[in-house]
Amino acid sequence: SGGRVVIVGGGYGGATAARYLKRMNPDLTVTLIEPQDAYLSCPGSNETIAGLGDGEALVRSYDWLQQELDIRKVTAKVARLERSRRQVVLQDGAEVPYDRLVLSPGIDFRWDAIEGYDEAASRIAPHAWKAGPQTALLARQIRSMPDGGLVLITAPPNPYRCPPGPYERASLIACYLKKHKPRSKVLILDAKTRFSKQPAFEQAWRELYGDMVEWISSEKQGRLERVDAAARTVETEFDTFRADVLNVIPPQKAGLLADQSGLTDSSGWCPVDPLSFASVYDPAVHVIGDACQPGPMPKSAFSANSQAKVCAAAIVASLAGEPPAEPLLINHCYSFVASDQAISITGVYGYSPDERQLTIRSSGETPPHGDRRQEANHARAWQRSFRKDVFG
Ligand code: FAD
Repeated sequence: SGGRVVIVGGGYGGATAARYLKRMNPDLTVTLIEPQDAYLSCPGSNETIAGLGDGEALVRSYDWLQQELDIRKVTAKVARLERSRRQVVLQDGAEVPYDRLVLSPGIDFRWDAIEGYDEAASRIAPHAWKAGPQTALLARQIRSMPDGGLVLITAPPNPYRCPPGPYERASLIACYLKKHKPRSKVLILDAKTRFSKQPAFEQAWRELYGDMVEWISSEKQGRLERVDAAARTVETEFDTFRADVLNVIPPQKAGLLADQSGLTDSSGWCPVDPLSFASVYDPAVHVIGDACQPGPMPKSAFSANSQAKVCAAAIVASLAGEPPAEPLLINHCYSFVASDQAISITGVYGYSPDERQLTIRSSGETPPHGDRRQEANHARAWQRSFRKDVFG
């Protein structure tokens, strides 16, 4: 056998790693551990919330990875890692041994960061920042909101999953409201003073939605101090806002398992060597996707996919006693601003030996007056090819 690689988390990072490990070395025994029978995609979920697609479109099956690629899928949650013995321990106590471990557990929320906003509160005022019941709940609330109502979205501080996501969500909700409840408003209360693709978002909002979408910088409102989910109110340092639909996107950190396994630093994310995505704390454990923090790369499905390929190649090399190749990584992220209009941002990241970190080699984004209809066509094509690349 070529070695045993275990992957924890069957999202965009983990599923890509599984596929590419097997493709680069068919002799590897590759095990993918994920509690869900099928993965639920966050990309596309803002469209579901705005009534532009149904929840079924977010489901990704593991059948192809299992049947075509001979990847062993274990449907279970990992309870803990025994890193000194190189064992993964499942919730039922079963152990799975590894030579190399890939962790792609995604994010968890900092439930202690905003007074009044804990997991119970999220069942009333959803975050919808993990796909599934939260997506459906926010979609229902938007649908049953009265015309003339206020949708309030709180956007988190950096770094967090999908930097342009809150603004895409605001755009698509406005797209729905303009058609069905035209006296309503979308307000974004931000923990930041600027945001991803800001010039292109703001131009699209002006052109498409007039004053329906409003963004308030933290410079103006200060800190988000308190949330009352039942009353649907949000208090900042200077004001209180009452919403009809309240969508709180809380501050984030690496998925709990990474935290509990001693793989995070004081930032709450996992520091890695970007040549291989090996944890700086354990060379046999690689962390990819949202949970890791490799320099300036944003947390996106595209980044997770790019990192998974670099990580897979480095693992195959290391099991053969070879050093990793120098990587070049890409992120290219589309945001829909209406059902048929989109904008995008691109970054290319290379390894800088001096800093032992990734640095930006080139970048670009849709200009405020870019061709948003053409970008929407590109975005649809990307969605199709990306899905195929990861889940077949
Ligand atoms: P995930 O995809 O979250 O996968 C993690 C997996 O790990 C989960 O399936 C989970 O069940 C599993 N897991 C966690 N803990 C355990 C455990 N203990 N044991 C076993 N399994 C475990 N990105 C883009 O590139 N383009 C987009 O258009 C885009 N749109 C987005 C829109 C929204 C609204 C949101 C919220 C995000 C969007 N993203 C987008 C970001 C993208 O969803 C994430 O960056 C991506 O999913 C990260 O992949 P991951 O593998 O790190 O984590």
